[in-house]
Amino acid sequence: MNVQQEIRAAAADSTGHFDVVIAGAGISGVGAAYHLTKQCTGTSFVVLETQKSFGGTWLTHRYPGIRSDSDLHTFGYRFKPWTSAPIATAAEILSYMGEVIEENALGPHIRYQHKISSARWSSEENLWTIEAIRTDTGEAVRFTANFFWMCQGYYRHSEGYTPEWKAMETFKGRIVHPQQWPDDLDYKNKKVVVIGSGATAATLIPAIARDSAHVTMLQRSPTYFRTGRNAIEIAETLRALQVDETWIHEITRRKILFDQDAFTRKTFEEPEAAKKDLLSAVEAYLGPDYDIATHFTPKYRPWRQRIAFIPDGDLFQGIKAGKASVVTDEIERFTETGILLKSGKTLEADIIITATGFNLSANGDIDFSIDGKPLDFSQTVTYRGMMFTGVPNLVWVFGYFRASWTLRVDLVADFVCRLLNHMKDIGARKVTPALRPEDHNMPLLPWIDPENFNPGYMMRGMHLLPKRGDKPEWQHNQDYWAEKDEFPAIDLGDHAFVYE
Ligand SMILES: Cc1cc2nc3c(=O)[nH]c(=O)nc-3n(C[C@H](O)[C@H](O)[C@H](O)COP(=O)(O)OP(=O)(O)OC[C@H]3O[C@@H](n4cnc5c(N)ncnc54)[C@H](O)[C@@H]3O)c2cc1C
Repeated sequence: MNVQQEIRAAAADSTGHFDVVIAGAGISGVGAAYHLTKQCTGTSFVVLETQKSFGGTWLTHRYPGIRSDSDLHTFGYRFKPWTSAPIATAAEILSYMGEVIEENALGPHIRYQHKISSARWSSEENLWTIEAIRTDTGEAVRFTANFFWMCQGYYRHSEGYTPEWKAMETFKGRIVHPQQWPDDLDYKNKKVVVIGSGATAATLIPAIARDSAHVTMLQRSPTYFRTGRNAIEIAETLRALQVDETWIHEITRRKILFDQDAFTRKTFEEPEAAKKDLLSAVEAYLGPDYDIATHFTPKYRPWRQRIAFIPDGDLFQGIKAGKASVVTDEIERFTETGILLKSGKTLEADIIITATGFNLSANGDIDFSIDGKPLDFSQTVTYRGMMFTGVPNLVWVFGYFRASWTLRVDLVADFVCRLLNHMKDIGARKVTPALRPEDHNMPLLPWIDPENFNPGYMMRGMHLLPKRGDKPEWQHNQDYWAEKDEFPAIDLGDHAFVYE
């Protein structure tokens, strides 16, 4: 059966009991399914996915130029070599994920068009009851599971975040959010303004600059970018030496991670030097006369927000060629023909694209309850950013900001499989994280420290997220380099895990 046939076959069989239910068939959910089949053989599981196919982020986003902003050696799984250029298009990522599904016969485990609406834990039965709505028929279906593996990502897929600006309704052209890119959007020879300067804007602008009349990137404040060739030298060398792809993948991953760790440490220890490195790479494309201080020099220390990689400097090449430009200003209001800025300048536009980010949705918009009581995740404390105090048999996948998300998908999966096997060995049906006596006076803090990392969607939604403590066990420390050694060493007999 090919993937599409498997999708149809799977859709026919809808309910039942499973050892594990996985929410979401993005890179996290597919990774979780793979690891369950390899590390917990014989475990029954189902993946419930709202959309019509797998891919998550890479299926939802269909704007021109959509691509990764980190390399696919580390955004790809550790178990399947990535063999192309490191920065990949959404289509290439979907194709890679499709191969993982096909090669490992994961298709029959996935139920598409199943939007999970509620998850209720019963301590009497030691079970989750998970209800989903079939988006094709509207039918409500019910599953029970011993364990719930949340791979639902971190933002709402159905709509992006668009701030309210004054007089938006007066604009006569089209306003588009990249998360809902219309198939019929014709930007040929049109004046386009893209609001925002994150990875989405930086990807979209070079992709549409050639065909539009002009693209203006309108930003309130600048963003850091990294740039360079879309190639990894060590991978090229090893390939030329005809080294096996499995080795190339592993060695290249190690090299990238080593370099990334060195750079991240530099941003903390020598922020000015790190900043200089980033800005001189931009200057190399734009030349000494370009106003880099205004348009590409953020006020914050590098890495407080994600740094997108610009392959071959394509954004800067568009600017240099005059097809794109950057305006750093604030919006006073929309007008019939564009945008009036606080400086008094106006930007004429036929199309305005709001690359203004996401709506945080930390729990997939699922109503959770435990023994009949609604569960408020913000009142829980996180165990290493994957489990929560008082919430039994549930793991949540939240990746890294400064490294590829998928590195953590593999690490969390190893932990979950070890935990499930351990529970089987000791005959436990329930595991609930709990603060230990020595943790009771621990300060409880917001999920992330805004001094450390502070993108808008996190700041807008922080009050909804679980709390963290000040010990490594009770926080998501965003440090792959530490977690790669710490996770395999987690003592499952620690009193932070209460088994029944
Ligand atoms: C445009 C863009 C580019 C990015 N580039 C990178 C990058 O280069 N490197 C990087 O590390 N990160 C990147 N990210 C972050 C990226 O989202 C994650 O790295 C990764 O794709 C998340 O995978 P996921 O499977 O956890 O979540 P998602 O990709 O968000 O997938 C979650 C899936 O769960 C489903 N789902 C949600 N709620 C429910 C529910 N209630 N019931 C059933 N199904 C549900 C959704 O439909 C979706 O398919 C990017 C993000 C965006 C938006």
